[in-house]
Formats: sequence, structure tokens, C-alpha cells
Amino acid sequence: LLASATDFDFFYHVQKWPGSFCDTTGGCCFPGNVKPAADFGIHGLWPNYAACRPAGETNRTRCWPDFCNATNTFAPSLISDLKSDMDRNWGTLSCRSNDSTAFWSHEWSRHGTCSNMDQHAYFLAALRYKARFNLTRILLDSGIVPSEERTYCVGSIRDAIGEATGSAPGIECNRNARNETQLYQVYQCVDLAGTGPIPCPAVPMQGRCTDQVKFPAF
Ligand code: 5GP
Ligand code: 5GP
Repeated sequence: LLASATDFDFFYHVQKWPGSFCDTTGGCCFPGNVKPAADFGIHGLWPNYAACRPAGETNRTRCWPDFCNATNTFAPSLISDLKSDMDRNWGTLSCRSNDSTAFWSHEWSRHGTCSNMDQHAYFLAALRYKARFNLTRILLDSGIVPSEERTYCVGSIRDAIGEATGSAPGIECNRNARNETQLYQVYQCVDLAGTGPIPCPAVPMQGRCTDQVKFPAF
């Protein structure tokens, strides 16, 4: 371990379903006004502790490290070869900016600087992991397809991804503008190299899901 290395236990590789981001009361915007494909998009690759660490003398309880190096700022030139892949697979849906650079910069500063990877390795690892396990395809192969009417058992979503990848993910839900609960984000547990699925060391989060959830069209 380098003297400066960050101590953490695993990564969450987090992907969001665009249909469930966009049908909320907040809505969404697309970079360049071009609607992306109906596919999961990367939110981030997040270093995590297996168990939250209690507050010391001065610090609050922490469940993950973040903002590990304020001087190591995002530099688009370091990942110019990844740009088109990033645009396709890691686009912003936020209306606060109409290009994704601010989103990538935030993810790098908050999470990437704790990853013990350089910027190119960090973004490449996240892109490769998404490509390795195509969540949209995995769900489709289990008959779980976006629908305006259907609901799905959240356990069947978790099982489909768990069987395809070897590791049961965490599932996060949100509410659409009609207050219906829907699949929002998938949290996959990944080893410290950012390459392989591992059994989730922490109880995978199941934020705000009910037994039956929607998986809306996009
Ligand atoms: P939210 O409150 O929207 O769920 O999360 C806000 C931000 O906190 C996320 O965008 C992410 O940067 C960070 N965050 C939330 N949950 C986790 C987690 O379980 N692990 C890590 N590493 N970061 C998280
Ligand atoms: P987190 O801290 O949860 O990793 O990242 C969330 C931050 O990234 C938000 O504060 C938001 O300003 C910015 N952001 C930019 N684009 C997106 C997006 O498409 N989804 C989310 N959740 N956050 C985005």
C-alpha cells in the first residue's frame, strides 16, 4: 500500500435507469438536447467501507471516504480517448448543466480521488464494468422490460442481476410524479481493482423500494 493510498473495502458500481430519473417531478434534461438510448447509465464508481466507522474525537461517523484529494482536479484531456464512450454510457440527466463534464468532475472529486486509481484508469474501469454486465439486457432476458403498466417484484429484479453476475445487487427505488415506486438505481459490489463482482460486504442497500415496483419506459 502506498503511504497515500485510501483505505476502503469495495466499490459500489452505481447505474441509474433514465426513465426513472426523468419521470419524477424534477424532470430531466439531455446533453445537446439529444435523448440518450433506453439503457442504464453510470452514476459512479464509489469506494465504500464494509461497515461504517464510528466517529473519532473530531470526525463524524463515516460509511465511505470521499473528497480524498482537493488538488487532484478533473482534467478532460486525460480521458479524451474515452469521451465518446463516456457520452454514451455516463451522461448527465441533470438540468443544471447541459454537458456531462460537470458531472464527471464531481464524480472524480468526490469518489475517484479515493479510488487509488488515476483518472484514466478510474473512468475506464467504470465503463468496462458496465460493458461487462449489460443490465438492460440481463433484465430483458428475464422478461423484465420497461412498461407503462406492469409492476415487477423487486426480488425478481435482484435475482435476475444476481444470477447473471454472481453477486446480488442493491436496488434503490424512487417515486414518479404520480408517487408510484419504481426501479431507480442498481448498486453492484466490485473488488478493489474495479474489475470483478464480489459478494456485497455491506448489506446491499434497498432504499425506498416496495415489494412491487414499476420499471418505466424511457
Ligand atoms: P443521495 O443522498 O442522493 O442518495 O446520495 C447523495 C450522494 O452521496 C451520492 O450521489 C453519492 O455521491 C453519495 N452516496 C450516497 N450513498 C452512498 C454510498 O452508499 N456509498 C458512497 N460511497 N457514496 C454514497
Ligand atoms: P453524487 O454526489 O450523488 O455522486 O452525484 C450527484 C451530483 O452530481 C448532484 O449533486 C448533481 O449536481 C450532479 N449530477 C450531474 N448530473 C447528474 C445526473 O445525471 N444524476 C445525478 N444523480 N446527479 C447528477
